[in-house]
Amino acid sequence: MRIANLSGRLVLVVDGRAVDVEHASDGRFSADPQAVYERWEEFRSWAAAADLPAGTAFESADLGSPVPAPRQVLAIGLNYRDHAAESGFGAPEGLPPVFTKFATSITGPVTEVRLPADGHTDWEVELVAVIGRRAEGVLEADAWAHVAGLAVGQDISERVAQLAGPAPQFSLGKSYPGFAPIGPWLVTPDEFDNPDDLELRCAVNGEEVQKGRTRDLIFSVPALISRLSAVLPLLPGDVIFTGTPAGVGLGRDPQRFLAAGDELVSTVEGIGELRQTFLA
Ligand code: ZN
Repeated sequence: MRIANLSGRLVLVVDGRAVDVEHASDGRFSADPQAVYERWEEFRSWAAAADLPAGTAFESADLGSPVPAPRQVLAIGLNYRDHAAESGFGAPEGLPPVFTKFATSITGPVTEVRLPADGHTDWEVELVAVIGRRAEGVLEADAWAHVAGLAVGQDISERVAQLAGPAPQFSLGKSYPGFAPIGPWLVTPDEFDNPDDLELRCAVNGEEVQKGRTRDLIFSVPALISRLSAVLPLLPGDVIFTGTPAGVGLGRDPQRFLAAGDELVSTVEGIGELRQTFLA
C-alpha cells in the first residue's frame, strides 16, 4: 500500500492515481495525513478491504510530505562504513550518533530550496522509516511490525554550521527551511521483496554522486528501532532518517557543494524519487 499527501489531504495511491481517504471512507478517517499514524492498524485493515472509487491523476509537485508533522524526528549519523570513513570518523559501535532535523525543515518531494548564505550545502540520500505503532523496548525481531512504511529522504546539510563551534551543531546545520524533503509517498514494508536491502542513489545535475544499498547499514532499520526504543518511546508518525552512504560533497577531493541552479535527484528502489532545485 502507498499513501501520500496530496495538497494537504491524505490519499491512497492506487495504480499511480490518488484516492481521497476522507471521501472514500465516508469521513471515518480524516484528511490530515499525519493523523492516520495514530490509527494505523485500523486504517490498514480498512484500506485492504475497502471498495475504493477510481482515483484521479495528480502531479508530483502537488505532493507534500507523507509525514508532515511528526512529534519526533530522529536522524542517524555515520551509519554506513564508507561514509563514516569519508567523513574522517570511525564506524560507531553500540549506539550511532543521533540528532534531529527540526520538523519545520520537512517538505514534500519536489521543491525549491534556498541555499544559506556563505554555507557549504551538501546532499545525503537516505531511507526514511515512519513509525506506525508505539515502540518502547522493542526487540529487533519485532521491530518491522512497528514500521508504517518507508519513504525517500534527503538529509540536506549545511556543513559550515554543522561543524562550527566546540561541539558539532548537527541538528541546526541540517534544519534550514526545506532541508528535509520526504516522499514521494509512504510505501508499506510488505511491498518490498526485502525491505532490508534497497538501493539508494542520488545525482546532481544528472551526474550520479551516491549509490549504496541499505543492506550495508551498520544499524539496520530493526536495529535502530530496538536501540532507540530502549532509550525513548518512538511514537506513531515519528520519522527516522537512517543515514547516508558514501559520496557526499564533504568527502570528495576536491570537496563539492550545491550551487544555485543545481538539481538534486534522490532515489530509493521500490519507492520513488525526490527532486530539489537550489536557489541563491
Ligand atoms: Zn544524514
